[in-house]
Amino acid sequence: MANNEDLFKNIISHSKEYGYIFPSSEIYDGLSAVYDYGQYGAELKKNLRDYWWKSMVQMNENIVGIDAAIFMHPTTWKASGHVDAFSDPLIDNKDSKKRYRADVLVEDHMAKIEAKITKEVEKAKARFGESFNEETFRSTNARVLENQTKLNDIHTRFKNALEANDLADVRQLIIDCEIVCPVSGSRNWTEVRQFNLMFSTAMGSVSEEAATIYLRPETAQGIFVNFLNVQKTGRMKIPFGIAQTGKAFRNEIVARQFIFRMREFEQMEMQFFVKPGTELEWYERWKETRMKWHNSLGISSEKYRFHDHIKLAHYANAACDIEFEFPFGFKELEGIHSRTDFDLSSHEKFSGKKLRYFDAEDNESYIPYVVETSIGLDRLFLAVLSTAFQIEKLNTQEGEESNERVVLRLPDFLAPVKVAVLPLVKKDGLPDRALELFHSLKPHFMCQYDEKDSIGKRYRRQDAIGTPLCVTIDHQTIEDGTATIRHRDSMQQERVPMDKIASILREKIDASVKA
Ligand code: ATP
Repeated sequence: MANNEDLFKNIISHSKEYGYIFPSSEIYDGLSAVYDYGQYGAELKKNLRDYWWKSMVQMNENIVGIDAAIFMHPTTWKASGHVDAFSDPLIDNKDSKKRYRADVLVEDHMAKIEAKITKEVEKAKARFGESFNEETFRSTNARVLENQTKLNDIHTRFKNALEANDLADVRQLIIDCEIVCPVSGSRNWTEVRQFNLMFSTAMGSVSEEAATIYLRPETAQGIFVNFLNVQKTGRMKIPFGIAQTGKAFRNEIVARQFIFRMREFEQMEMQFFVKPGTELEWYERWKETRMKWHNSLGISSEKYRFHDHIKLAHYANAACDIEFEFPFGFKELEGIHSRTDFDLSSHEKFSGKKLRYFDAEDNESYIPYVVETSIGLDRLFLAVLSTAFQIEKLNTQEGEESNERVVLRLPDFLAPVKVAVLPLVKKDGLPDRALELFHSLKPHFMCQYDEKDSIGKRYRRQDAIGTPLCVTIDHQTIEDGTATIRHRDSMQQERVPMDKIASILREKIDASVKA
């Protein structure tokens, strides 16, 4: 655990040192849970957004993309249920004065029990080797059984309490599970209260005219209110989807995990409109499609898992998360929800406008059901960055004094800078030749030109920002028109003709998508 904590700290400081992520308004000591993306962070984020957009919109004839406004008519949030029900249960520890999400305290406690069970199973697996039967072991080992019963009991009680909105029992569960505050170590808890997460502001220049409006807490509602506009103007036939990416805002109770939980963040959502009765089939299809998409990023599939929701939201008839193993454990990365016809029906009621689809094949009109996929771009960024970040011991030294390098092994197609062009020395016409190559590559790839410091230092700088290729121009280039390509991951070098560099680069970038 300590190791992972160190790793996480290293990632945060590396992000800042190398222009990926800065605390917001840092010169004023920052703003809690708000971050700015720097010159490389903005590129990586854009590449991730573009990849999502391409796989959703460009690759699916029946999905189109929109860009709705952040501000929406305030009734939107009445209809969606956010004004009345978009809240988290909060609890304070009276000794440390720290605030927590009561549900997260219980979930973390359950995760600890689950980890104990997994450890027990792993130990036995190592002991018995080939002959090990996990199912038998789980159903007979006394310690595993005891923990499993404990876990099941907590799970049932937690689910019932949440469903009944019984906050007193959520508190009692925290007490009965003997959950302590990680800061004070005490069990001196306040009552549990609901806290609405929406930010509000006022629209209108004269105060009497001002209306309270909200900063959208999810992008989905911008899609629902435009359902008919898009369906009619795009002549869309069910099943079809509407996708969008954009900012969302939530006044999170606890926001201590870097860009994992922010108060201003970006979502990439897709609402898929289907015929009633077919939604669970589509729900399964989208679960599978989205998991495949994650695997196409080239990260080990063991880092992902599905997690069914314990309590279904008021609008859902099936829901799960794709969880990712972040440096601080498995946590939600993406939600996949079967939202029934809740949103469209509710908007119909509140707006008085019909939001129906006429199905010409079946000659009937209905309110479509919706399956949504919803991923946080910042969380995706953190998943990709934390997997890519590595500190490596080196045998070869590439002319450098340090025998360690920090490298971001990002998938090539996501890297902020694709190629760096480096003249070996700053004389003998090498910079001119290097600049010529740089200018020829620039219209096609994000490139950098760097002539400062030793070549070893320049390689390290490019490793640290994740540039897949460096091209070095040396004296032989002037003689025979070849240059050295140096690969980030293997650090291997090869000599290639200058006029082949663009195509080598293009092939390398294309090959890094694992779809
Ligand atoms: P959590 O349980 O972690 O609060 P959630 O279930 O409320 O998340 P959803 O409402 O399903 O999240 O939102 C969809 C996606 O938006 C999440 O899977 C996550 O990737 C992202 N997301 C939600 N809240 C935040 C946040 N505060 N900061 C960054 N990303 C977020």
